Amino acid sequence: MLNSHLTKVINAFRLFKLTEIGLQRKQCPLCGGGILIRLQDSEHGVRCLSCQGGPAQMSLAKVIRKRVPDLSKKTVYELSSRGALYKFLSRESGRLVYSEYFDEVPSGAWVDGVQCQNVEQLTYESECFDLCTSSDVFEHVADDSAGFAELYRVLKPGGSVIFTVPLTSLEKTLERAIYENGELVHIEEPEYHGDQLRGTGKVLCFRTYGMDILGRLECAGFTHATIDRDPVGDFMGRGRHVITAIK
Ligand SMILES: [Zn+2]
Repeated sequence: MLNSHLTKVINAFRLFKLTEIGLQRKQCPLCGGGILIRLQDSEHGVRCLSCQGGPAQMSLAKVIRKRVPDLSKKTVYELSSRGALYKFLSRESGRLVYSEYFDEVPSGAWVDGVQCQNVEQLTYESECFDLCTSSDVFEHVADDSAGFAELYRVLKPGGSVIFTVPLTSLEKTLERAIYENGELVHIEEPEYHGDQLRGTGKVLCFRTYGMDILGRLECAGFTHATIDRDPVGDFMGRGRHVITAIK
């Protein structure tokens, strides 16, 4: 019994290289906690010790705090129902509406108290949110133009969408997979990411965005689409570009 426990602990530590483990005093923009921990030299390996938020969510919170100083008066729509970003928004925004996307569940239906929303076909009324947020969702949306258009529709005039996606410095977005006549066609080697509902390596990535993401947002009607480079490298050398577009 003791041996098997010891083996588990030893195996857990084998996943980490001692040289990569580190701590840094740094205020977490999500929860205000003061210490970051790095267990691995990767984005995934860096977390806030208090709220377990990672660099993508911390980058988002930093930009949201900067761009929406009156968050406590705003009605916010976030495309997830758990995690450090969800907790930050539910604590700091005036009102938070949230959803998940469940496979094979129609948009608007409820699953265990959480509403399913397909961002390509939201069931919300037009012009009901001040801010829409998401962290690494749009690369998994088959028709992202429809998704951006839907966020534009549900935002009030002057409202903004603030989000992250994996982003390269290339001019053009690399389309990895598309639907053609209802059939999924892989253009590139399939790439899968994980999420908190489905686990690691389960969610197909339809594209790797390039700088033309700003043009895609403008096509959906947004003005002033910008990329904030501020948070890059801010969290133990990790951090993300954050995209903001205003209606
Ligand atoms: Zn935190």
